[in-house]
Amino acid sequence: MEQVQQILSSKSNVLIEKENKYGAHNYHPLPVVLERGEGVHVWDVDGKKYYDFLSAYSAVNQGHCHPKIVKAMVDQAQTLTLTSRAFYNDKLGNYEEFVTKFFGFDKVLPMNTGAEAVETAIKLCRKWAYEVKGVAEHEAQIIVCENNFHGRTTTIISFSNDESARKNFGPYTAGFIKIEYDNLDALEKVLESSKNIAGFLVEPIQGEAGVYVPSEGYLAKAKALCEKHNVLFIADEVQTGIARTGKLLAVHHENVQPDILILGKAISGGVYPVSAVLCNDVIMNVIKPGQHGSTFGGNPVAAAVAIAALEVVRDENLSENAERLGIILRNGLNDIAKRNNLITLVRGKGLLNAIVINCDEESDLAWEICLRFRDYGLLAKPTHGNKIRLAPPLVITEDQIKDCLAIIEKALNDFKK
Ligand SMILES: *Cc1c(COP(=O)(O)O)cnc(C)c1O
Repeated sequence: MEQVQQILSSKSNVLIEKENKYGAHNYHPLPVVLERGEGVHVWDVDGKKYYDFLSAYSAVNQGHCHPKIVKAMVDQAQTLTLTSRAFYNDKLGNYEEFVTKFFGFDKVLPMNTGAEAVETAIKLCRKWAYEVKGVAEHEAQIIVCENNFHGRTTTIISFSNDESARKNFGPYTAGFIKIEYDNLDALEKVLESSKNIAGFLVEPIQGEAGVYVPSEGYLAKAKALCEKHNVLFIADEVQTGIARTGKLLAVHHENVQPDILILGKAISGGVYPVSAVLCNDVIMNVIKPGQHGSTFGGNPVAAAVAIAALEVVRDENLSENAERLGIILRNGLNDIAKRNNLITLVRGKGLLNAIVINCDEESDLAWEICLRFRDYGLLAKPTHGNKIRLAPPLVITEDQIKDCLAIIEKALNDFKK
């Protein structure tokens, strides 16, 4: 390596050491300590400025500290924060009307985190199977995909095939059948094998797995197969949703309306934990009072924040921006790949992209490259070893994308063999 890596300041080191000493070691953060964010930028404790190319796993699509979303939160926080659902509040109904019309569903069930929304969708799907489809009690099965990521609860990790997410957390929840992603034959085979299939839970693009984009037509054909077998098509758009891939939802690229839609992350613009499950009455009405809930789900702050966050997506044309700049970013990355063989593959849709680095999954080269990106003012993180996800806030401009491409190339050139 030609250059010495940036030395962390003692201020950063003290803070990192604190997290190490007092916090559970359930993450392995890139060594950078952030204290401020605005739009596409974040600043560390020493005042160094970075482009954020992770966007908190696509929660901060609207950019850091978007003034309109922050104002909605502050105003509501000074008025009424939490009533619980034991009482009505003056914000929830307006939000429910807004969000259902925004995405085209009869009803919404509000939760807080992505994993809770996935759990909610699983419960809805099973109850629908028993009470509407007529599956015998305890027999319902949900089809999921290999290399999925749907969150961290016990049930969700039960159907993960990531050893680190699963190992020693058993016994596992039953009732899931795993098939290969992007394989319609596998889906059809399972659908035809049993009358007990309740749903097919799928990420329209597998983000955590390394931004795997399925073949064109996969989602539309999978939806059609589900319809044919009276099985619910459940789209986990927690990461792909809300303009990230160049459409409001990633399923919109194939004109699919899921039976159950799962949203999280960017539905609040990253300022507050908000998640949601949307579906039509025939499914949602299986849930009756007392059968599911959350103390914080649908609280007035969440409702105010989510409306503001979705208005920003609409008013600032973030889908169109993601679509247009995604093409420019991928073209630029492909150009770099022609000059530097460290990039073996560029893939993605809109502003959800990844580069695959020319090394095996166990190598720490992608990590070293991300440290160099950091040194040059851009923050990204490897996912599954040799892939680096590149997903800036959707408010990024063309000039900024070009600036970032220059940073990426400069960093990669330091590792050129
Ligand atoms: C992040 C994510 C989740 C889980 O969301 P949390 O808020 O972390 O619980 C679920 N599904 C997908 C596709 C995600 O990217």
